[in-house]
Amino acid sequence: MTSSARDDAPLIEVSGRTFHPAWLRYSCPCVRCRHPESFQKVSDLSARPDLPEAAGVELDTEANELRIDWREEPAHRSCYPLDWLLLHSADTSDAQNGPVAAPWDAATLRDRGVRWHEAADCGTDGGPWFTDLQTVGFALLKGLTPHGLERLLSGLAPVFYTEYGRQADVRAVPGAEDLAETESALPAHTDYPYKVTGPLTQFCYYAENQATGGELFLVDGFRAAEDFRREHPRWFDLLTGTPVGFEQLYTTWRYLYRVRRPIISLDGNGAIDALHLGHSHAWAWEIAPERCGDFYRAYHGFVRQLGERRYHWSHRYADGECVVFRNNRILHGRDAFDPRTGVRHLITAYVPWQQLESRVRFHQEQRLYLLGQEQK
Ligand SMILES: [Zn+2]
Repeated sequence: MTSSARDDAPLIEVSGRTFHPAWLRYSCPCVRCRHPESFQKVSDLSARPDLPEAAGVELDTEANELRIDWREEPAHRSCYPLDWLLLHSADTSDAQNGPVAAPWDAATLRDRGVRWHEAADCGTDGGPWFTDLQTVGFALLKGLTPHGLERLLSGLAPVFYTEYGRQADVRAVPGAEDLAETESALPAHTDYPYKVTGPLTQFCYYAENQATGGELFLVDGFRAAEDFRREHPRWFDLLTGTPVGFEQLYTTWRYLYRVRRPIISLDGNGAIDALHLGHSHAWAWEIAPERCGDFYRAYHGFVRQLGERRYHWSHRYADGECVVFRNNRILHGRDAFDPRTGVRHLITAYVPWQQLESRVRFHQEQRLYLLGQEQK
């Protein structure tokens, strides 16, 4: 395929970053191209016979903007705030989009240290607990009340509702619909591997924790899976390349959930994106007989790896303590407990993880939208 002459249009350089004229024209933030109130795009250049051409380019460092006059009828001028350009440049790494994940195992977490946040000081517009969620994948809150939990959920709404409602009381009950509602130990898992949902911010709030046992542990699944990739590359490929089904039968609500997907999913760049794993929801997997031997060896290898103490961070949560974490990255499990020794009242609730990221991004970038607004 030959590239047309227009594809060889000279790139425009700003502060060491390069931009293609077509990209710039399509990204024009002016009020004719982008609705001034909703900021949504209204221009549609697809009907034009060819890509746009810049007639004049002016970099005004005083006004902190790049101005381009386009060769088109009627005349069109685009003004780009330099901050905005640099933030959206193709060379800009994700590092500019907030704190970077810092995968951990028990030893690195011990060196780093964990910190507790007073729940009353935790807002829903950012702050240190958000930073913990973005770096180590979990945040520890103390002094939380049911009202305080509600404040956090409302602040990050809409809440992800489940069959149990806006939040769930997790206690050992007769007629359990889920193993979580028994006193059994639970191995490391992600919640809802059988539902189609993006990653969730999960709250595990101990309203009361008097029963003996039941310690909760966390595992950084990204770290464990990265080690697994290095130590067992062939097994890792089997887990990322073989969709398997996780399911849940809800008798009360008349649903039989089943979702098929790989246990470890990768993003377009091959980075570990999410884990979907709940041993108690694994059932009859549709794997070709000739692939079963290899697959089950790989699966058992990964489950063993997640069970290794070198990945576990455990804590005995007191009344009013809460751990918030990113489901699909941080796996959790618990020891068995004895419900006859005291009340264990755990409340779980979820909001989509995307809301936390979007809130952070809103505060970082909102002003750039308003900058575009000022330029008529
Ligand atoms: Zn425009």
